[in-house]
Amino acid sequence: MPDKTLKCKDCGKEFIFSEGEQEFYKERGLENEPQRCNECRQERKKQRNNSGGGNRGNFSQGNRGSGRGF
Ligand SMILES: [Zn+2]
Repeated sequence: MPDKTLKCKDCGKEFIFSEGEQEFYKERGLENEPQRCNECRQERKKQRNNSGGGNRGNFSQGNRGSGRGF
């Protein structure tokens, strides 16, 4: 499976959808090819993190074991 050249939806730049990435997508059952280049993907990730506010206290809140209702 050769590398593919795709066009980024956001910046219009061409980027490589590499053989390895294609495998990765396949393994995960993703049929759609990536729409954006790495840079734009990173950018979007950043934005999501920023606007999400503090993502705190998402780890074990000790809500298991002791005292089940009823
Ligand atoms: Zn882009």
